Amino acid sequence: MNILWEKSRALQKRASKVMPLGVNSNFRYWGEGITPYMQKAKGAYLWDVDGNKYIDYRMAFGPIILGHAYDEVNAKVAGEIELGTLAAMTYELEIEVVEMMVKMCPGLEMVRFACSGTEATMHALRVARAYTGRERVIKFEGMYHGFHDYTLWSTYAPVEAYGNPHDPIPVPSSSGIPRPLNQMIVPLPFNAPEILENMLRAVGESVAAIIVEPCMGNCGAILPEKNFLQFVRKQCDKYGIVMILDEVKTGFRIANGGAQEYYGIKPDLATYAKALANGYPLAALGGKKSIMSIIGQGVSQGGTFTNNKPGVAAAWATLTILQREPVLKTIAKRGQRLKDGISQIFSEAGIPHCMNGYPAMFSYAIGVEKITDQRSWSESEKEYYLALVEALIDAGVMPDHDPREPWFLCYSHSEKDIDDTLTAFRAAVKTVKR
Ligand code: PMP
Repeated sequence: MNILWEKSRALQKRASKVMPLGVNSNFRYWGEGITPYMQKAKGAYLWDVDGNKYIDYRMAFGPIILGHAYDEVNAKVAGEIELGTLAAMTYELEIEVVEMMVKMCPGLEMVRFACSGTEATMHALRVARAYTGRERVIKFEGMYHGFHDYTLWSTYAPVEAYGNPHDPIPVPSSSGIPRPLNQMIVPLPFNAPEILENMLRAVGESVAAIIVEPCMGNCGAILPEKNFLQFVRKQCDKYGIVMILDEVKTGFRIANGGAQEYYGIKPDLATYAKALANGYPLAALGGKKSIMSIIGQGVSQGGTFTNNKPGVAAAWATLTILQREPVLKTIAKRGQRLKDGISQIFSEAGIPHCMNGYPAMFSYAIGVEKITDQRSWSESEKEYYLALVEALIDAGVMPDHDPREPWFLCYSHSEKDIDDTLTAFRAAVKTVKR
């Protein structure tokens, strides 16, 4: 990066003395001397501690769907916290939020709150295991469902470690994950129906859940091939497996009813976090009454902060606004223009590429014509991707530094922001050597 980052570098030095990597999540660390530290965020913009302003396309890893520090959401939170920030009892506001979720998302009949996406998927897996009396879980390579030990397998490893796609090797994504858990996880390549079918023929009767992101939201936004999610649904029905749709990134972002509405699919359970509360901490798991109602019947779920008032109030305001205004339609229109514009810039420069994801959450892979899973994505030109990102950041446009992480848009991105981003993108492609 060439712009002024003196204060960021000083803060990184200071933070590194007391925080591992100088940050509070591994994902916030970009490297020595190139990790930005924040001053403020408002609408579609960020300001770093050196006073540089950016059009933000990270949106806090996806939660910001309306805009940073969105006035109406903040006002609702400010009003509600006057009545208490946390209680060992249930507020009516929680019921109202759940009623809105059930109305908006086709697959939800009952919902419980959690504090993070990690917690939501962890609880959903327990519910699925309790419901089926089985322990194995199928996940897809490159998909991320949070930091708990059950699914943090075959997420970030070099794909060479994954073995043959017909018999993949589960690779833990961290030291400290108990090795015996590999008996309970079956990672498979995404978008490969025959491989899934064969695996289920072998172990289907012992599988509690198939957990799947609607698209590869943590690996280049690779979309499901036509009918792949429907195929997963059918296989779950055939083998009595609980289908968990992890909508932590897609929920309240790609449609008001998330991927369930978008693809017309009803999972057994679904998980939410991110856009549900526009940047305040709230997550949820929900689904069929027949499954969710086992919670409390010998099945544990809960947490001190699961009904935290700032999160619940922010969700109340966010869902109210999503239902009142054409938020996601507006984002989709602007996102499509940005996506198309980026594709056109690559094409004009003669750079092979493929565009992936939804207008509200998209990515591109460079140097490849088509990608369907993490194995094919890994053949794309990640160094060039990164070099372009760094040029964009110098020009005041901030996508994530990690090529796996999609670009996220919010309601506050204006047509002019899209124009300015495309201008910066065109200049970056012109100046950065491939
Ligand atoms: N599931 C998916 C699909 C995610 O993208 C993430 C976070 N990126 C999580 C779960 C975990 O959510 P959290 O970071 O809130 O724990």
